[in-house]
Amino acid sequence: MEKLGKIIDEANRQKIAGKKIKVFKPIIDNRFSENSLVDRNGQKIAAINIENIEEIKSYDADVYLIDEFQFLKGDIKAIQDLESKGKKFYIAGLNLTTEKKPFGKMGDILCCADNVQMMTSICEICKGENAIYSYCKIQKTGDVLVGGDDIYIPVCSNCYNRLLNGEIKL
Ligand SMILES: [Zn+2]
Repeated sequence: MEKLGKIIDEANRQKIAGKKIKVFKPIIDNRFSENSLVDRNGQKIAAINIENIEEIKSYDADVYLIDEFQFLKGDIKAIQDLESKGKKFYIAGLNLTTEKKPFGKMGDILCCADNVQMMTSICEICKGENAIYSYCKIQKTGDVLVGGDDIYIPVCSNCYNRLLNGEIKL
């Protein structure tokens, strides 16, 4: 299952459990819908657009769910402060940029997480190996270029290197 589907499922599970939930997504990500998260199966849930991690402090909830965490600015201390008050977090994001660098604050949040699930899709080039990297099909500047399947493709380590050195052309 894709990670967004997991966030939406968890949000629904927590709601059934009677928890007060809030769902957040970076303001930069309006690929599918302005104020909601929509997974590829059309499942939908209301989401609050934020730019900075600290903005979640203005919202009261038992459980905070955040998608596309890699695009958020700010300090994860805001999350640790809320966690120390008994709040729960479910966070999804892309751990690496296409240059294989830790993406945004993903490294910070991974170190604090008590449960990490790595999700990979199958490499789009060889259709065999797990895709642990994403390869950007177009030239870009900086880490942030929002796009979907048109710009990024999931690739395995071997195919990533072959794309990079020109052995494979797209
Ligand atoms: Zn491959």
